[in-house]
Amino acid sequence: MLEKILIANRGEIALRVLRACKELGIKTVAVHSTADKDLMHVRLSDESVCIGPPSPTESYLNIPAIISAMEVTDADAVHPGYGFLSENADFAEQVENSGFIFIGPQAETIRQMGDKVSAIKIMREAGVPTVPGSNGPLNDDNNRTLHLAREIGYPVIIKAAAGGGGRGMRVVHNEAALLKAIYVTQTEAKSFFGDGTVYLEKFLENPRHVEIQVIGDGQGNAIHLGDRDCSLQRRHQKVLEEAPAPGIPDEIRNAVAETCIQACKNMKYRGAGTLEFLYQDESFYFIEMNTRVQVEHPVTEMVTGVDIVKEQLRIAGGEPLSLTQEDVKISGHAFECRINAEDPNSFLPSPGLVKMFHAPGGPGIRVDSHLYSGYKVPPYYDSLIAKLISHGNSREQALMRMQIALDEMLIDGIKSNTALQRDLVRDAEFQKGGVNIHYLEHKLNS
Ligand code: ADP
Repeated sequence: MLEKILIANRGEIALRVLRACKELGIKTVAVHSTADKDLMHVRLSDESVCIGPPSPTESYLNIPAIISAMEVTDADAVHPGYGFLSENADFAEQVENSGFIFIGPQAETIRQMGDKVSAIKIMREAGVPTVPGSNGPLNDDNNRTLHLAREIGYPVIIKAAAGGGGRGMRVVHNEAALLKAIYVTQTEAKSFFGDGTVYLEKFLENPRHVEIQVIGDGQGNAIHLGDRDCSLQRRHQKVLEEAPAPGIPDEIRNAVAETCIQACKNMKYRGAGTLEFLYQDESFYFIEMNTRVQVEHPVTEMVTGVDIVKEQLRIAGGEPLSLTQEDVKISGHAFECRINAEDPNSFLPSPGLVKMFHAPGGPGIRVDSHLYSGYKVPPYYDSLIAKLISHGNSREQALMRMQIALDEMLIDGIKSNTALQRDLVRDAEFQKGGVNIHYLEHKLNS
């Protein structure tokens, strides 16, 4: 088992990882920027090291500073959380080359999944359903490309192999616009990501975002923990998530989950991961794999009773999975509302002093947050300040509990999106279940 780990992240996820370490009796090292010395997990950790100025490139993305902090504190392993260095294959490689454990997949796996073209290839080989498309990079053969797009049928989407965060994509509605769009996407991809490789796939017009949580032990054993629906998004950012995804026939969700397990077994996948799909007309289409713990992992924890972060820590310590697929039972339903420090009208970040924070409670309520009264939200980082998670025996009960929790919560001093969340959990269409990825933006624009 690991004895001491360094948490290379901040905010709620750093606190989440710290709590899991405490449960397992693992000592913790917090690293933080000069702007973050008052973070809750820094106060609660066994040791802390300041790794640089506020700018993320000089602190949370500063690989040499993080590796030296591991050396100085004699940590065994590093947990990268999500964002920052969590999907940086070079970081994982340097950590392991320096003799430490990276809590996540092998660097090679991160690299393969970071390249969407190679990820799609690996998934297809395992039988995972993908979006009809070029199944490989587009080349200079324009006739071939035009023919391919015609066969697939418009609209199509051009995507950068190295793309991420919703960047490097372009939808094309007709043949006349295709070649120019490819050229522009290639040029952009080259300047944003340093790799101009692009591919083409069918553009699905009204899909839902449904994803499958997996865990592998790195030896060829893997299980899934069911699915989540994350269709409520604004600008490709998830706002409210739930598990399980509502209204999907069991044979369809089980069949796709089986293929995910096969892919993980083939890769000897190590740690927690998520396969993201678009779901439309009762079919799943793989779009990408995230090789880290996700913001929305708590909804899966609530319906399975499995602590995903503890599993990550156990696997990194060389232990087997703590359960088999037969042990995984989905019980009830869970929701997560992301609470952001942002202006409710402009959606611009709203940092500053939290004069008062009152967290909700009661049956089936979990709050993952680093906020406390008197904490000052710095302006330099992501605006996520709390995750409100509710669980119930039924979807209706979980939703009712979330409504109550949102009404109880108080955040004074800074602006937040709480009112939007209150509105969403009372929205008639959302309550029915199964809205698509455009629903929230249409609602906001109407
Ligand atoms: P990123 O890594 O930038 O998040 P993804 O491949 O996950 O890129 O795609 C991001 C979003 O773009 C998806 O959640 C979906 O909204 C949209 N998208 C991607 N591919 C398609 C597609 N083939 N059809 C329709 N929408 C798509």
